Amino acid sequence: MRMGARVMAQRQPMPERPAEERVQDFDEVPLGYTEEMAVAEAGRCLQCKRPMCVEGCPVKVKIPQFLKLITERKFAEAARKIKQTNAFPAICGRVCPQESQCELTCVLAKRGEPIAIGRLERFVADWEREHGEVQAPERPAPTGHSVAVVGSGPGGLACAADLAMWGHSVTVYELFHESGGVLRYGIPRFRLPRRVLNAELEYLATLGVETRLNFVVGQTATIDELLEEHGAVFVATGAGLPRFLEIPGENLLAVYSANEFLTRVNLMRADRFPEYHTPVHCGDNVVVVGAGNVAVDAARTAKRLGSENVTVVYRRTRPEMPAREEEIEHAEQEGVRMCFLLSPTEFSGSDEGWVEAMTCQRMQLGEPDETGRRRPVPIEGDTCRIPCDTVIVAIGSRAHPLVPETTPDLDMSRRGYVAIDDTGATSKEGVFAGGDIVTGSATVIQAMGAGRRAAESIHRYLTGEEPPNGNGG
Ligand code: FAD
Ligand code: SF4
Repeated sequence: MRMGARVMAQRQPMPERPAEERVQDFDEVPLGYTEEMAVAEAGRCLQCKRPMCVEGCPVKVKIPQFLKLITERKFAEAARKIKQTNAFPAICGRVCPQESQCELTCVLAKRGEPIAIGRLERFVADWEREHGEVQAPERPAPTGHSVAVVGSGPGGLACAADLAMWGHSVTVYELFHESGGVLRYGIPRFRLPRRVLNAELEYLATLGVETRLNFVVGQTATIDELLEEHGAVFVATGAGLPRFLEIPGENLLAVYSANEFLTRVNLMRADRFPEYHTPVHCGDNVVVVGAGNVAVDAARTAKRLGSENVTVVYRRTRPEMPAREEEIEHAEQEGVRMCFLLSPTEFSGSDEGWVEAMTCQRMQLGEPDETGRRRPVPIEGDTCRIPCDTVIVAIGSRAHPLVPETTPDLDMSRRGYVAIDDTGATSKEGVFAGGDIVTGSATVIQAMGAGRRAAESIHRYLTGEEPPNGNGG
């Protein structure tokens, strides 16, 4: 294809299940590219000498190289090319915000539509798995060094993958009874099917990583105790502690944090009560407060639990919503209502203590704040009351305090997260940290990038040598 024709060629749309069908279950929404679609889409790539797409990727996936392999129909080789820098392409192809990373910086975005890099990443990873082509990488001789990774979210797992590839013995400690962090208890199955997550976790097991579940660091053992057993510790405990609105009535029954609501459904399988013994109350008039991925995931989950009316309430407007555009569109197609410029001030309830309504202050947009988004300003005296029987609060999260509280010599940042230097090292000898516990709630790929950078520092710390090149699971 000539260059002009490539620029003009249209991006392959993603086939999806119809909205009315998909709200009946938790199965995945996008169906994935066919081989022909993938080859056509990858064929639009200009194979830039200086690929700007790679600049936009936090783990520097070799994007033009894997796209070229797709055009040659070498799908398994394409997946392996990605795995040189990203151990979890089937996950990242589904949940990474490509529109603000690699696809934003792709040169084609300036003159037309960028290459659908995420969809192609997902395609090759699925192809490799479904065709039984996943190869366990060759492992080097053991170095004799041992590392504890605290937390099995994407940050911890990416760090574990690299360290295991370099011959270190790695044990992941996880407080829940299943590993994956937010990938398992936060992101719903209709966005990240558990067979996909499990397959990528199995890949980690083939690298020899040991996982100890139901292990609460700070209770079962402290960081100091882990250091007696291991040469270094990587703390990747995430930002799983919910923030609340701190307004009257928040303790009423059926007012949940999104964290509790999603964990009950995703991890404890409340959607399959009574087969699983963890019900969740989800009435017919659900209000979700917030506008990020978490809020949108909670709203779409409520729809799938059978709620008639699900309304997302946000104090700004649609363009300021931090959730991924694709997810907002999917939510709207599924019948989730969006109400903007409203800020909750109070919940009121029945004599039995169940929530019945939410009072909101109406807002208007003022000057931009430090994030560049226009600040919501109250319109004095203008309030409204929204009847509801369930409220899900999704306004952000904080660092889980257990590890910091039980590790007195671990310095914290002013924002309340673990403080690190440029190498990922904390104030405590032999202890490194990364992911949401350092940055606050961010993205899967940023946590993975932090895990990989920390793995390099840990390798240098343990061996005094530079890490081998080109690894990463
Ligand atoms: P986590 O994934 O939070 O993992 C931390 C792990 O540590 C958990 O398993 C936790 O149980 C464990 N842990 C905590 N304390 C202890 C302890 N004391 N002992 C042992 N284990 C402990 N990002 C995207 O890029 N795209 C998305 O579409 C997206 N959607 C999201 C949807 C939801 C509902 C949520 C909540 C987040 C979403 N994110 C998304 C953000 C992303 O998931 C996080 O930024 C990422 O998971 C952070 O990874 P992490 O490894 O730092 O922490
Ligand atoms: Fe291909 Fe876009 Fe990357 Fe250029 S910037 S190599 S066109 S994906």
